[in-house]
Amino acid sequence: MFLKGCPLGCLWCHNPEGIAPGLDEFGRIISVQELMTEIEKDRPFMDESAGGVTLSGGEPLSQPEFLVSMMRQCRDSGIHISLDTCGHAPADAFDATLDLVDLYLYDLKFMDDELHRRYTGVSNGLVIRNCKKLDELDRKTLIRFPVIPEITGTAENIRDIGDFISSLNNIKTVDLLPFHRTAEGKYERMGIENQLKGVDPPSEDDVAIAKRILGGYGLEVLVGGSA
Ligand code: SF4
Repeated sequence: MFLKGCPLGCLWCHNPEGIAPGLDEFGRIISVQELMTEIEKDRPFMDESAGGVTLSGGEPLSQPEFLVSMMRQCRDSGIHISLDTCGHAPADAFDATLDLVDLYLYDLKFMDDELHRRYTGVSNGLVIRNCKKLDELDRKTLIRFPVIPEITGTAENIRDIGDFISSLNNIKTVDLLPFHRTAEGKYERMGIENQLKGVDPPSEDDVAIAKRILGGYGLEVLVGGSA
């Protein structure tokens, strides 16, 4: 499920249609009950594949009441929930999810606050606070790190990310998401300026170097979800 709205404005966003709630040609308003009816239609597939619901966006936590309400219903119906989040949410909204989510897919972009502000538009204070909370409570969490040449993918930023994750007690896995250009067409169709137009994806070597640096911290490192 893709929930609309996002408090960030990452220059590399692959889902620009999910950021602005006002772009109604890319979504529709739906009640929790209607959504649960849709989810129940997929129940046979979920049961067969031991799957569940993944909530993504945009940023699902930008609609906290809706999110918590539908996650409660999923939990009561025994449906596995994964929450894909950028982690930028006030403590009370984030903490309301802690007993409802089975797996967090948690984005980390920059540990340096100035860089975080420059490329996403917001401070990383809440992102770090909420990540530490997940670790403290030992919630199942996969860190996701976008590898973008010369932006997030610098050796210094990768080391900062490695330093941070290795300082945690329970979270030890990071998934590298190599930047790709498939969203370029969306930016054009929607008439939104693409500030990363023409930026190349990382080479295999770039990704291998990021993997080696993070592996050096004793972390399990995946690339696009695979070992
Ligand atoms: S947090 Fe995700 S959805 Fe939001 S702007 Fe960044 S990449 Fe796009």
